[in-house]
Amino acid sequence: MAHITIIGAGAVGVACANAFLAQQLATRVSLYDANAQRAEGEALDFEHVAPLLGQARVDGGGMDRLETGGDVCVITAGAKQHPGESRPALLERNAAALHSIAGALERTHLPRVAVVVSNPVDTMTFKLLQRWQGRGVHVLGTGTLLDSMRLRARLAQWLNVSGESVHAWVLGEHGDSSVPLLDSARVAGVSLETFCARRGIPFGAAERAGLTEWVRGAAGKVIALKGATCHAIGLVTARVVSAVLRDERVLLPVSAPIDGVCAGVPCRVGHDGAEVLGWPDMSPAERASLDASLAVLRRTCVA
Ligand code: NAD
Repeated sequence: MAHITIIGAGAVGVACANAFLAQQLATRVSLYDANAQRAEGEALDFEHVAPLLGQARVDGGGMDRLETGGDVCVITAGAKQHPGESRPALLERNAAALHSIAGALERTHLPRVAVVVSNPVDTMTFKLLQRWQGRGVHVLGTGTLLDSMRLRARLAQWLNVSGESVHAWVLGEHGDSSVPLLDSARVAGVSLETFCARRGIPFGAAERAGLTEWVRGAAGKVIALKGATCHAIGLVTARVVSAVLRDERVLLPVSAPIDGVCAGVPCRVGHDGAEVLGWPDMSPAERASLDASLAVLRRTCVA
């Protein structure tokens, strides 16, 4: 079985470790952090329930203890948003952290697959891809998978059906310009518009704007309430890592290179990371929103 390394033993790194262990994705999970004590303490906390962890063992420490990137390396290190702060505002600090982490990994064995979680996730993925071009590492970011889960959850609650029955994507930037594809969403094989008309649920401009705003503001609401988001992204990252380690070839909107940037785009995710499938069918309004989102990313995805 696999060895997963997590760089960044903060709230998100620990939520990822928790999800990987609960889903038995690895036989070894290693947590590293610039704050050695934090990483050691988090690893020890898990190790104390070793009898409940099956074959898995957990270790961790400072970045000087890094021996290998493992099969999959998940990067969650870096600053998080303060209430009201945008994700791109983190770029300068987190890009510096990313390059120091990449440097540390280069001094060991590079991972087969790297999953970037730290924000702004699309630009961070772009920067790591550029740095490791030609080095045999499959780099992807969690992209808009979390946003898509949020949209599906919201639609399911609103329509009073199971989230499993709602097929909807959020694409583009994981951020304020993300694009919830409401025209292309499907419930029981029909459009949202048709489903709502049949069930007598209002679905006009106000509902569309409300849904888009809700998805874009979902993280901000959690941050305002408890200071950070972690559980949802931990489970979303486990979804991606599971797809890689089990070679699931599932189609997920992860961050990958397209149109000169990295953005949330439908990809086939499996053993070799993310294979970009390209943009799905969209209405002209959705395409215009996507172009605006890609324009936002072009400002930061630069060599
Ligand atoms: P946190 O403050 O709890 O933990 C961050 C950790 O990173 C700290 O322990 C810190 O010591 C460590 N760190 C910083 N620089 C480092 C370096 N150069 N090398 C090693 N370790 C370093 O923050 P958090 O809540 O865990 O959030 C982590 C990141 O995840 C943030 O950028 C946040 O915005 C992002 N995030 C992304 C998503 C997503 O959907 N992609 C969702 C939630 C959070």
